[in-house]
Amino acid sequence: ADTLTAAATAEPLPVLGRDVTVPLVTGGEVTYAALDYAASAPALQRVWDDVAAYAPYYGSVHRGAGYLSQLSTDLFENSRRTVAEFLGCRPDDQVVFTRSTTDSLNLLAAVAPADCQVFVFETEHHASLLPWRDAQVTYLNAPRSPAEAVSTLERALDVRAGRGPALVCVTGASNVTGELWPVRELAAAAHARGARIVLDAAQLAPHHAVDIAGLDVDWVAFSGHKLYAPFGSGVLAGRADWLRDGEPYLAGGGASRRVARRADGGVDVDWHTTAARHEAGSPNVIGAYAIASACTALTEAGFDALAAREQRLVRRVREGLAEVPEVRVLSLFGDDAPRVGVLSFVVEGWNSSHFAAALSAEYGIGVRDGLFCAHPLLRTLLGSGPQEPGECGAPEAGPGERSLNAIRVSFGAGTPDEHVERFVRAVQ
Ligand code: PMP
Repeated sequence: ADTLTAAATAEPLPVLGRDVTVPLVTGGEVTYAALDYAASAPALQRVWDDVAAYAPYYGSVHRGAGYLSQLSTDLFENSRRTVAEFLGCRPDDQVVFTRSTTDSLNLLAAVAPADCQVFVFETEHHASLLPWRDAQVTYLNAPRSPAEAVSTLERALDVRAGRGPALVCVTGASNVTGELWPVRELAAAAHARGARIVLDAAQLAPHHAVDIAGLDVDWVAFSGHKLYAPFGSGVLAGRADWLRDGEPYLAGGGASRRVARRADGGVDVDWHTTAARHEAGSPNVIGAYAIASACTALTEAGFDALAAREQRLVRRVREGLAEVPEVRVLSLFGDDAPRVGVLSFVVEGWNSSHFAAALSAEYGIGVRDGLFCAHPLLRTLLGSGPQEPGECGAPEAGPGERSLNAIRVSFGAGTPDEHVERFVRAVQ
């Protein structure tokens, strides 16, 4: 307990951008308070240093006899092993480097058997809602408690037609409310009914240890840029069979073992059955290494210690917002539900976009406003919503109209207390 109390008041991890100043509309300038970690977190200084130290040695991966090519190939493959360890992968699991969570889930959708039925809560991020073929998806209604999430899934799987393959896609932590989902229980419910499960850990992995074997999920997807490693890489890790048997996600060099002309003029291709099957083209070694570096840095810092500190900041934001009667914090599972450092809210009498713009212009605070690429969830949380929102955003509410979008504040391992204090003061 003493260790965690000390951790709760420990210094934030060093990140880039801490000294960046931005102009205020009221005159002068102020250091930028990055409170939009859920969209993209700043790079850990450690990740930046590791990448910079490697950069002079950059070389082609899997396609070069030179020393630097060998070094880069080793770095890339070692990064894969580091990620596997970070996720607690089982011996036969594969780790595929992708561009992002969106890319990872689209890859899984591409290799899932054609007759696979997919079950997704309507409350998911669009990256989880949309990659599946229409005919295969069953959208589940928003649950109002973790227990209801489990029973909703159980009922849906119990009545599913046929005995063919089935897949559940679920988030570990909501990108809107920050609330934690009962992943272990959902995985047990899925497996007991012969279905598989993929965990969208885009918002979970930066805040909690993700243990693929312990949670007993089949796959995990996450993005480097939310894990303090903004170099264009993501991960899909998990069971090998669908990945090994599915069509290559990207066709090209690196994914193929042997290519030969056929007598009829076409080509025969012998595809790799390892992760390389889906990684055609020259891979993003810096992106992969940056993710591995972030995994190592977070593991060394310790998720228990990081969470203790972050939960103190969550409490401060909750208490600060509770003092403002016009503020309503959005929640599916109830105000006291456990959550990561992600909170969305609306302010009565305010258009959320104007509110967020004011936080930026008057206080140098960067938050996000909009519908957060989770339009059905926002409609559930706000009652109704705009029919034609823009790019993951929302049309303006007119003067005096109720705001139909929300404001999201999100933070993590690099957030100093001062940013949270400034935010609370600004809202108040
Ligand atoms: N899932 C969740 C829960 C997310 O928050 C996000 C990003 N907002 C994504 C998926 C998609 O991540 P990316 O944009 O990195 O593909």
